[in-house]
Amino acid sequence: MAETRQTKLLIIGAGPAGYTAAIYAARAGLAPLVVAGLQPGGQLTITTEVENYPGFAEAIQGPWLMEQMQAQATHVGATVEQDVILSVDLSRRPFRAEGDSGTTYVADAIVIATGAQARWLGIPGEKELSGFGVSACATCDGFFFRGKDVAVVGGGNSATEEALYLANLARHVTLVHRRDSLRSEKILQQRLFAKPNVSVVWDSVAEEVLADSSGRVPVARALALRNIKTGARSELPVHGVFVAIGHDPATALFKGQVAMDEDGYIVTTPGTTRTSVPGVFAAGDVQDRIYRQAVTAAGTGCMAALEAEKFLAHAAVEAPA
Ligand code: NAP
Repeated sequence: MAETRQTKLLIIGAGPAGYTAAIYAARAGLAPLVVAGLQPGGQLTITTEVENYPGFAEAIQGPWLMEQMQAQATHVGATVEQDVILSVDLSRRPFRAEGDSGTTYVADAIVIATGAQARWLGIPGEKELSGFGVSACATCDGFFFRGKDVAVVGGGNSATEEALYLANLARHVTLVHRRDSLRSEKILQQRLFAKPNVSVVWDSVAEEVLADSSGRVPVARALALRNIKTGARSELPVHGVFVAIGHDPATALFKGQVAMDEDGYIVTTPGTTRTSVPGVFAAGDVQDRIYRQAVTAAGTGCMAALEAEKFLAHAAVEAPA
């Protein structure tokens, strides 16, 4: 039966931003409700080692960190629902959100913390061979390529980390990058270049994932490349292709309801998490195209909870029950 859940604060998304907002809001007595979405724990659940989240001298595992954040949030009084929000109505307060479970969430304030999703190349063969040689997550799928040759496409931190991770499993890793230098942190680059089984193909774009159709199901057999300086085309024989070219904010749900920039990032008032709708706050990667770190997401999650608390206190004064 359709259910309605009332809450002072609805937090949509369960990554570092959502859980940190939940921890602060719960400790402020707001009894927040977190709707975890399709990927509870967010992008850190598909990250291997985390070395830059402060407080841990040794590298920790991303999924473990997220389990801890969830446990901390529930321990201090937040409720976490395994549901997916399908639509929202932010046109009037209280706000409403419809869950896939049939539950309607009615909230006095909302924190949007839906994060970002992996971007794909959009080349022939990529979608068709997804799960059959094409992946966006080395931690999830690297295991299947033990002793094989793989390619990683991209030149940022994600691509470099994926290549480093795969270098410990695969026979050879080729990083394919469209420019002649990586944008990843220097320490990661140093580690990458020190790996004997890693090479980089510079100035090149992937044009197609080629299939071997001789077996029961088609599987990836090579990546078709084009050098953008010389125009030369080549085939890189690989069993696996890992795409690591960045992320898009998961904001389709809120389109037309809060102000966004041209790439779909939610616009917040500088120095705050306030969106164009009073009572709606945005934290983490949905509103951050620059830093996109777990720790910055957590920081803005904290800000969102503090701002929501202040907003709700003022709203209560303006409209006494
Ligand atoms: P990113 O920094 O935006 O890098 C994306 C890379 O993919 C760039 O090198 C870009 O090339 C390339 N690219 C984009 N579109 C492409 C296309 N259509 N075809 C070919 N190449 C394409 O993304 P990211 O590496 O996912 O990192 C996202 C954010 O998370 C960053 O702020 C990063 O620092 C952070 N992050 C941090 C860590 C860590 O601290 N350990 C780990 C992972 C991610 P160009 O260089 O030519 O633009």
